[in-house]
Amino acid sequence: MKHSVLSGMRPTGRLHLGNLYGALLNWIKLQEEDYERFYFVADWHALTTGFADSKKMHQNSIEMAADWLAFGLEPEKSTIFVQSLVKEHAELFLLLAMITPIGWLERVPSYKDQMAQLGKSKTSNYGFLGYPVLMSADIIMYKAAFVPVGMDQVAHLEFTRELVRHFNTTVGKSVFIEPKPLLTEVPKILGLDGRKMSKSYNNAIYLSDTEQDTESKIKVMFSDPRRKRKTDPGVAEECGVFMLHKIFTDENKCSEIKESCSNASIGCVECKKILAKNINNTLRPAREKRAYLLQKTEYVENILIEGSKKASIVAKNTLNEVKDAIFSNSRF
Ligand code: SF4
Repeated sequence: MKHSVLSGMRPTGRLHLGNLYGALLNWIKLQEEDYERFYFVADWHALTTGFADSKKMHQNSIEMAADWLAFGLEPEKSTIFVQSLVKEHAELFLLLAMITPIGWLERVPSYKDQMAQLGKSKTSNYGFLGYPVLMSADIIMYKAAFVPVGMDQVAHLEFTRELVRHFNTTVGKSVFIEPKPLLTEVPKILGLDGRKMSKSYNNAIYLSDTEQDTESKIKVMFSDPRRKRKTDPGVAEECGVFMLHKIFTDENKCSEIKESCSNASIGCVECKKILAKNINNTLRPAREKRAYLLQKTEYVENILIEGSKKASIVAKNTLNEVKDAIFSNSRF
């Protein structure tokens, strides 16, 4: 039997380079490996901190799925679905919630961090506190043996592993397996202001940006502060622009830029122009496909609906197993 991998993204807006290199390209790479793959639009998760944006959820989901498809996620190779179209996720979440100690949720590392970052108005709700339980339900529903994560997300997965052990012990049966992290090397992608690229920092380069937008954004990107004048030498390895060069520019040119930056024979303006050109060249085919897909939203929607039907079959089976384990044969 093939192992399953599962991963999802919140449809909180258009995807940026951080999402692409932090997750999506890895999902696509996994399509060449011997796994059963489940990738989902985590729309209920998005509601835990963004209920005010619920009216945009459908459009955001379609746009995000269009990004996925444009970059190479294939419905023939991966089950691509919408969390809210597979109602079993809510039922499993509810059942798991009955055995999850509140203290575990309050101790989740991101709970306090996100509260501080997003503010009380977005995080003072039961759904936000309980989101690790929903996340666990998503993962174990498909008996995912692996979850592709970066090092910083391993702690989140530990919650799910603990909950699996607790559930299996409580019902006296090994219904679920403990999912393991499938560690992926994620390149460091800094945003325009030198902080981590993120939609909430308003510092991102989006896949949906035009070539002109990309050029304008890169033009004002934060570079090595040592280079106040063109004649000041810099350290490329400490510059966010160069980190993007390492992804979008070939090795020889990168070595050349590194050298030229350190002896001040290249200016930041020129260096950034080269980067913008390379980003645009790399993204062009996917951007064109994205624009094409967004003229056919019915097609994208259909892929999500069909994928959700496929996911529902697996989810129903799992939920029956869960209910048998909890209620034995005496259930409705
Ligand atoms: S020349 Fe390029 S790598 Fe060097 S500081 Fe300027 S933008 Fe950064």
